[in-house]
Formats: sequence, structure tokens, C-alpha cells
Amino acid sequence: MGAFFFLGYYLKKSVFHFISFRFVVLKMNEIMHQEKIEAIKAAIASADAQNQDELEAYRLQFISKKSVVGELFAEMRNIPNEQKREYGQLVNEVKQLADAKFQELIDKVNAASKKSKSMDLDLTLPPTYIPVGGIHPLTATRQRIIEIFERIGFNLSEGPEIEDDWHNFTALNFPENHPAREMQDTFFIEKNPDIALRTHTSSVQVRVMENQKPPIRTLSPGRVYRNEAISARAHCIFHQVEGLYVDENVGFADLKNTLYHFAKEMFGRETKVRFRPSFFPFTEPSAEIDISCLLCGGKGCNVCKGSGWVEIGGSGMVDPNVLENCGIDSKKYTGFAFGMGIERIAMLKYQIKDLRLFTENDVRFLKQFRSLL
Ligand SMILES: [Zn+2]
Repeated sequence: MGAFFFLGYYLKKSVFHFISFRFVVLKMNEIMHQEKIEAIKAAIASADAQNQDELEAYRLQFISKKSVVGELFAEMRNIPNEQKREYGQLVNEVKQLADAKFQELIDKVNAASKKSKSMDLDLTLPPTYIPVGGIHPLTATRQRIIEIFERIGFNLSEGPEIEDDWHNFTALNFPENHPAREMQDTFFIEKNPDIALRTHTSSVQVRVMENQKPPIRTLSPGRVYRNEAISARAHCIFHQVEGLYVDENVGFADLKNTLYHFAKEMFGRETKVRFRPSFFPFTEPSAEIDISCLLCGGKGCNVCKGSGWVEIGGSGMVDPNVLENCGIDSKKYTGFAFGMGIERIAMLKYQIKDLRLFTENDVRFLKQFRSLL
């Protein structure tokens, strides 16, 4: 509207005041430029962009050299010198407006694409991995041992981890001065009467014999405690499994055959078993149980220290004193017993070199056994 008013004003002026023709043409050009600039400003103000294509369209229309703003600059050469300054200012103003709007639109399109990315949901992608736990190697070993003995008629028995002197020592024929009764070997909870963390699961066998009549065929797995310095080969907490068979006419041959069967089932058919004479207070005669080295098959290696054999536990015929202590007639009944460390068996079976790994809860170690059932 303002432009038309000026146009009329100057036309009137040119007619009534006889102003030179050239001046009128110049003024008309100026008015036309002003109108054009106002129109471009309005177009910039109302411009919008929703995506990269529309952004590019805006750039071509208002920013590039061939854009309408670019044309305004090119027009500069046709502007008379005395108006160049004023014209230049107007065009620069338009240029600034166009640039500011361009930046605003870039920000808007970028923000929109970021938002749409976060909403991007592809239902065909595989699901997020949810870690699945596995059975601890000691649990797997324990379960396998139980399974082997259950198949040949052994049942399962369990007892308390805090034991009195009778069940842990005296009933098992430990003499008064036996080193296991000393403070440095056993975790005593109370003295006189002595209460301690059980040092073996033989205490469970005493409880079974006290409460059941032969025939008894039982397996007692469980946690035991000994006052030992923790190292790669020893720990103050470990697991044992002990077996007991009491009936009429049970002999050492039964013990050997039972353990042959176990060794072959547990470690493989080629496994050989050897018994070495030993001493335990609760068995007579007593023997250590060795199996042929799983790694070298008996040839000799680092694991078996060149001997070809590795120890897996102790065994023997139940001492008649123990049977009598538990109320079983030792003239009528005989029995055998054996005990093994579950850690020891697991270390041999899975070639684990450090006992401490079992209790450190290091997932890198544990997840190697994820496939165990
Ligand atoms: Zn070996």
C-alpha cells in the first residue's frame, strides 16, 4: 500500500511540478524494487521445510547465487550510484533474513529426523539378548555322582553342617588326641561340649546308622569345613560325597567293584582304579583310591606328576567299633565306606587347575560350563 501511495505521490509531483522524466523513471524503479523486496521478505517469512528436499528447495529459492536474493544483488549494477548505498542496505537485510530462516529450517528438519529415528522400531530385528545362567560345575559334578550311585541302589541322606563331637569324631572312632580335634584343624563353635562345623560328611553316615537298620546303602553329599589356608589346592570350605554300604557279607570286593563302576561311569570306560593302603580312624582296612590320569591315560604328565595316577578319595571297611557305636551288631553286619572331594572330581573332569575358581563367582569362569546339565 505504501508503495502505491508513493507512486501516486511522485506521479502527481511529476505532473504538477514538471520534474524531469529521468527522475520519475528512477523513482519508479526504486518503488518496484521496494515492492519486490517486500514480496521476497514475505515469502521468506512464510517459507517452511519438513525434510531435506524442501530444505534444498528453500536454498535454491532464497540462498543460492541464482535465487531471488541473488538476483537482487545482481541488480545492483543497474542501480544509480546515488541510490546504491540505500539499495545495498535493503538487499543485505533481505539476505540476513533469508540466512536466519535457512538456519532455523535446518535446525527444525534435523530435530525432526532425530525424533523419527528414536521412534524407529523394527519388529523384524532379533530380540535383545537375555543372559541365561548355567549350573555350577560343582553342582553338575554332584548331580552326576548322585545319578551314578542312585542307579545301583544308593539313596540320598543329608545332615546338619554344625555337628557335635559325637557325630563328627567320637562315634567315628577318632581317639581323644587325634589332630583333627585340635583348634588349628577344625572350626569350633563351642568347647565343652564341643560343637564344630563338620569336617566331613561321615557324620551323616553316623546319623543314618543310628536311625536305620541294615541293609543301608546311602550317599551323603554336602559342604564341609576345615581350618586350612586357602590356596590353589586347598580351601576352608569344600564339598564331599561319602558312600556307605552296610549289610550281611559285605566285603572289600564289593567296595572295589562299586568304585570301579563309579570311575568308569564318571570318567570313562578306559579309566583304571588302584587302591593304596592307608589309615583312617573309622575304617579298617583303609585304602586311598587312585584313578588313571585322565590327561595322559597313565603315561605320566604334569597333572599326575609323572606317576600316571591321580587320587580321588579314601575308602575302607567300616571299623567294627563304628558299627557298634551306632548300635549295629558288628558280628552280623559288615560294611564299606568311601569319601571323595567333589571339587577334586570336578577339577579332574574339567581340567580346572585352581580350587579357588569355584567360589570366586567369576562369570568368565562359570559361563564355560553353561552347557552342563
Ligand atoms: Zn597324567
